[in-house]
Amino acid sequence: MKSFLVNPTTRLAGEIAVPGDKSISHRAVILASLAHGPTEVTGFLPSEDCLCTLRAFQALGVDIEVQDPRTLSIENRVHRLSPAREAIDCGNSGTMMRLIAGVLAGQPFRSRLLGDASLSRRPMGRIIEPLGRMGARIRAEGEKGTPPLALEPARLHGIEYELPVASAQVKSCLLLAGLTAEGMTRIVEPSPTRDHTERLLAHFGLRPLREGRAILVQGGLSLEARDLVIPGDFSSAAFWIAGAAAIRGSEVRILGVGLNPTRTGLLNVLLRMGAQIEESVVDAQGDGEPRGSLLIRGEKLRGTKIETGEIPNLIDELPVLAAIAALAEGETHIRGAEELRVKECDRIRCMVENLRRFGVPVDELPDGMIVEGGHPIRAARVRSFGDHRVAMACSILALRADGRSRIDDVECVDTSYPGFLRHLEKLSQTASPVATDWKDYLPWMQSRAERRALEGAPQFPVVAIDGPSASGKSTAAKALAQVLGIAYCNSGLVYRAITWSLIGKGLALDREMVFKTAVRQMKIECRIEENELHVQVDGKEPGEEARSPIVNAAVSRVAASSWLRERLLPIFRHLAEDRSLVMEGRDIGTAVFPATRFKFYIDADPKVRAQRRQNQGETDSIEERDWEDRSRAAAPLRRAADAVLLDSSEMTVEEVVRRMRDELRKRGFPVPEGASVP
Ligand code: C5P
Repeated sequence: MKSFLVNPTTRLAGEIAVPGDKSISHRAVILASLAHGPTEVTGFLPSEDCLCTLRAFQALGVDIEVQDPRTLSIENRVHRLSPAREAIDCGNSGTMMRLIAGVLAGQPFRSRLLGDASLSRRPMGRIIEPLGRMGARIRAEGEKGTPPLALEPARLHGIEYELPVASAQVKSCLLLAGLTAEGMTRIVEPSPTRDHTERLLAHFGLRPLREGRAILVQGGLSLEARDLVIPGDFSSAAFWIAGAAAIRGSEVRILGVGLNPTRTGLLNVLLRMGAQIEESVVDAQGDGEPRGSLLIRGEKLRGTKIETGEIPNLIDELPVLAAIAALAEGETHIRGAEELRVKECDRIRCMVENLRRFGVPVDELPDGMIVEGGHPIRAARVRSFGDHRVAMACSILALRADGRSRIDDVECVDTSYPGFLRHLEKLSQTASPVATDWKDYLPWMQSRAERRALEGAPQFPVVAIDGPSASGKSTAAKALAQVLGIAYCNSGLVYRAITWSLIGKGLALDREMVFKTAVRQMKIECRIEENELHVQVDGKEPGEEARSPIVNAAVSRVAASSWLRERLLPIFRHLAEDRSLVMEGRDIGTAVFPATRFKFYIDADPKVRAQRRQNQGETDSIEERDWEDRSRAAAPLRRAADAVLLDSSEMTVEEVVRRMRDELRKRGFPVPEGASVP
């Protein structure tokens, strides 16, 4: 399981382009697969959901070449679909299952559609019924009209159908089925829903007719291939739009985002709440998808009432709207949104539960909720319930909490927004939101002591020793640990092991992307064996090489990365989860265990320190390292106000250790009886 740790911020600021539109990516693959000729699709969203659609059409015999993750070449060379050898896996995607069912219902072969556990709970009756009327032989194998779906060969005929609920997925399913049906299919929507399918059909040369609330397609016509550029996903941008609008002082610009009016209902609601949003449509080509940029400035918002008629055009944005309603003054009412109960999770129940954990007063209604805004937001630990939009909506609210929050189970975020965390870091301008995807630390992350450890209050007593290079702290710390009979941890070793591994890979340390990618892929293991910390990177211990001249020269630059330090924090804290220890470094008393009562800062005259290094026979410019360690922004070297200062220039190691032992006794550390310094 992966979690986000989200630190609060005062504002959101910066400029981003969000990944490609999920709805359009699915539809682009489907329609290009049905068209005559080659189509190049750019801006494709390579999320798990959309990749399922891509794989499905490959399985149905369409040539789909992935040029790069966002660019596809699609061509159906045989002008028909061929039966897939196995059942088609729709993963987590309801859109995909409903749309592809429409495509396959009228084929002369049988198909079977499967979904993951969450999709297997979602209702399919709403497509089965009208498809059945068109002559499809489709059956839900699940108990409550739920997936898997089995489709037998059939010939379809056009029908007239009034949708009982406004649903773009059902509408699109029937439009796609209509393509293979004999005659005309006429669909009436109770209220307009997203019209990407219609626009894309037009793009491929088959313009559906509109008659008021009705949409008509003629069966048996062919689609002509034409290259396509997919705009950024408004629903992904929505997290930043809503977040920036509601956090005073924010200024965020979003580039190249889709501004199809059937998707941007959120903007109207935010404007009504007092938001400052400038929209500039740069590209509104005919029937294509309008796109442009948005500039959002943060203001204090006021609550509002969201009415039933508004729901279809902001259905995906309701989780984040509920989240930022907590930041607005007064009540926000969301009604007529019962559809939310059958999304990736029951989004009403799950958001209500999460909001309450953040300390937000909220009433759950059968068809929505009432959020009372303006109360302080408490840092919280919440779950995504496997729902990407719940995870992201809660991350936005966490930005305004009174401490660090934790969002659990966030793998699902990749289904619509790969790179969300990167954007969160960038726009919130804190290096803190960190994915704790280092599995080895999960047992700790989930333990009941987590909260205390997160705050730097160790479970077992920890002695924190900081100081500049060659101040004698390592030798003293090691000896002290022995005297106390507890573990000794040299935190510098972790920075050294990482630096050693990066150098071994020949990577440029100053290229942030390269650096982060390499560190993300590293398996870093910290173990305490025979009362001493051992560090392995990718299964190897650096040994002597941890102190080689080139590691000495580079380690402080690596350690200056606030991003890296945030990632290492839980690892260091984890070590104190089940034992007492002495840990030495640069920020142990200030950042790693700020709440421990047992802190020392060991210093020595710079000349003495330089001499010590030389005596050890090491090539190490300690002056430079000190300068770097003191001047960095993230957890710089400094003495904690409550640390005992020891100048070791004219002291022996024994004297330093004795002073520390006596001080620890005075401060109430459980020093063993008769602990003598050899
Ligand atoms: O203690 P040692 O000299 O082995 O540490 C190597 C380097 O690791 C330091 O110069 C510093 O840049 C970094 N470090 C740190 N924070 C710690 C421990 C070490 O930044 N807690």
